[in-house]
Amino acid sequence: MLFTDLPIDQRLLHTLEQKGFSQATDIQAQALPHGLLGKDLIASSKTGSGKTLAYLIPAINRVLKTKALSKKDPRVLILAPTRELAKQVYLQLRALLEGTQNKAVLILGGENFNDQVKALRRYPQFVVGTAGRIADHLTDKSLFLEGLEMLILDEADRMLDLGFASQLKQIDAAASHRKRQSMMFSATLDNAELHYLTSALLKDPRRISIGSAG
Ligand code: ADP
Ligand code: MG
Repeated sequence: MLFTDLPIDQRLLHTLEQKGFSQATDIQAQALPHGLLGKDLIASSKTGSGKTLAYLIPAINRVLKTKALSKKDPRVLILAPTRELAKQVYLQLRALLEGTQNKAVLILGGENFNDQVKALRRYPQFVVGTAGRIADHLTDKSLFLEGLEMLILDEADRMLDLGFASQLKQIDAAASHRKRQSMMFSATLDNAELHYLTSALLKDPRRISIGSAG
């Protein structure tokens, strides 16, 4: 499957092509049709199979193609288990947003809190971060998620292993818009705690498992 076979905004298709992305990987071919339709999903596949684009493409596409539900709140929130992973996702997102008017901010634990408050006041459309610090900004009322349109959990199983279940629940509760779409990615799908999180966060999700990973 080629990205040009999918209902992706022309500007994003052009950027993908410029970066050398034309053919969808297996997980992308399975996940993108649902993600692009606004459906919830949970997916697993092995490391290196291209999960990042499987959620960044629907997220950027939605922001490019539709009007924001809220003028101030971020439209897309992407959570990753570690600072390093969040930073990698952020850099890939930034590269795909080149040439658009959209802003992304990276919110990591261990960094200056007030600098992050200032960055959030510039009303970025995209926030990427680690769950603990994002939850701190909710508690501090420096971040509001009522208008959030897309919640993405990358490596959800690792976030649970690291003890972020309560922060994830706090974030889910704050992102209360009825039109919210949610996508979860995980190395495994058969884990009791993950199952609980899935039923709390996702609405009638499509389940996608590629290879032996799930
Ligand atoms: P995962 O999260 O599943 O471990 P990543 O999203 O980090 O995988 O992608 C792994 C590598 O594959 C990255 O270097 C990425 O740029 C590359 N990649 C992803 N999708 C494609 C694609 N459709 N065509 C070519 N390379 C791709
Ligand atoms: Mg990944």
